[in-house]
Amino acid sequence: MQRTLVLIKPDAMKRRLAGRILTRLEDKGLALVGLKIMQVTPDLAKQHYAEHVAKPFYPELEEFITSGPVVAICLEGPEAITVTRGMMGKTNGRESAPGTIRGDFGMSRQLNLIHGSDSPEASDREIPLYFSDEELVGSTDGMVGTFFAGD
Ligand code: GDP
Ligand code: MG
Repeated sequence: MQRTLVLIKPDAMKRRLAGRILTRLEDKGLALVGLKIMQVTPDLAKQHYAEHVAKPFYPELEEFITSGPVVAICLEGPEAITVTRGMMGKTNGRESAPGTIRGDFGMSRQLNLIHGSDSPEASDREIPLYFSDEELVGSTDGMVGTFFAGD
């Protein structure tokens, strides 16, 4: 079982797409173990995007990710990180395949609707930035047979 950190980004919130994006992830079979609406601060943005802080596009990225509320989500499932990244599509919406969230809803490299952890190391680092232990429910193992029987 794996956990991943997902953000529904401010562009998706402004476009009222939060419910549709969450529905796609739930429809797939990923389980919600943490969920909240919140404002990302510049300080949190720098921690979250530590790998990008020195890049030329970082100021624009910080301005974007702090421009309005996000929905922070912790999802659990087998290979949840890879499964979620696959459903997101490529970074640039114009290059993302139809059927992916970014491919179906966007045309931008920056305003790309959703964040998802890209590795187990990233999810281990990112989940505690957004959720305390008390804000996450326990393992969903008991629910798993519904979706992954015989897996
Ligand atoms: P991701 O893992 O697919 O989200 O992409 P990255 O980790 O490479 O980048 C983090 C986020 O920064 C992306 O989701 C975009 O919102 C934004 N971003 C990435 N590359 C660029 C860029 O070249 N220019 C701008 N303005 N934003 C970018
Ligand atoms: Mg990334």
